[in-house]
Amino acid sequence: MEKETKDLEKLLISNKPVMCEKCKGKLFYKGGGRYECNSCDYFVLDDFGKIKVFLEENGPTPMLIISQATGVEYEIIERYLRKGRLEIPEGSKYYLDCEKCGCSIRYGKYCPDCIKQVAGGIKAVFHEELGERPKHVYNTNMTGKMHYMKGKRGKKD
Ligand SMILES: [Zn+2]
Ligand SMILES: [Zn+2]
Repeated sequence: MEKETKDLEKLLISNKPVMCEKCKGKLFYKGGGRYECNSCDYFVLDDFGKIKVFLEENGPTPMLIISQATGVEYEIIERYLRKGRLEIPEGSKYYLDCEKCGCSIRYGKYCPDCIKQVAGGIKAVFHEELGERPKHVYNTNMTGKMHYMKGKRGKKD
């Protein structure tokens, strides 16, 4: 397990774009997983950005499909969700499971109830482990609105 975690860390770092593919200029992080070139109109999304944009464009989607559509490893997507950097949108049919009781959460590791138990009433909990339950679990009719992400590497409009 220990080794796996380290490899994943390496993978995350190696996937960070640093150089403009068009003019070899330096890329600057603009937030939300988006990197922009200072000297031309090139921009690129890192794994985090790809997942984020995909969720914005496609709405709630099973992680496996996000992985196939964005080319981002399943483990990386789950890691971002578990770390609370990404949230599964409200109304999704697909959520993460609380690692303790198995109820649905949108991000993090544990649901708010289990966090209280895990922490034994003390509020010394890593923020990133705290999840949030979906407010309503809708019976959404997924209309298969799935298309491959356009312009994940490309020009600005
Ligand atoms: Zn450039
Ligand atoms: Zn729980």
